[in-house]
Amino acid sequence: MEENSRTLRLEVITPDAFVFNDDVEFVLVRALDGDLGVMPHHAPLIASLGIWPLTYTQNGVKKKISVAKGFMEVSDNKVTVVTPAAELPESIDVKRAEAAKARAERRLESKDEGVDYDRAELALKRALLRLDVVKTFSGQ
Ligand code: ATP
Repeated sequence: MEENSRTLRLEVITPDAFVFNDDVEFVLVRALDGDLGVMPHHAPLIASLGIWPLTYTQNGVKKKISVAKGFMEVSDNKVTVVTPAAELPESIDVKRAEAAKARAERRLESKDEGVDYDRAELALKRALLRLDVVKTFSGQ
């Protein structure tokens, strides 16, 4: 890519799929130690990601991808996100996310000793993440 290009390449990869691979103007992620914005020609870095939407701007339009943990590498004007789970808004199954949310909430509210609360909290965060990304997409 040329030195003075106004875009950078964004690649989002999961164990199952290449979720996204295109040129964008800006990327914003929630790293474990805070928000991280990446413009073209950013200095190299590696960061761990939380359960949070990745936001990017393409042709002046802001869009979101759901990203549940993993890490991001910035190098050579390219952002590579490697994550266990990522979805574009249009591939999110809303009913499934709502069911996962209800299941996690039920577990968190129960007094059952067998409940793994940390796991339920992470499941709830993933479900809320997906619902948030879909909501922005459908303009609600
Ligand atoms: P569930 O309990 O519904 O499986 P989960 O949060 O436990 O949700 P993950 O372990 O994060 O699911 O993801 C497993 C796989 O399923 C990943 O490939 C992820 O992209 C996909 N996935 C999970 N929930 C959804 C959803 N609502 N819509 C589309 N894909 C989903």
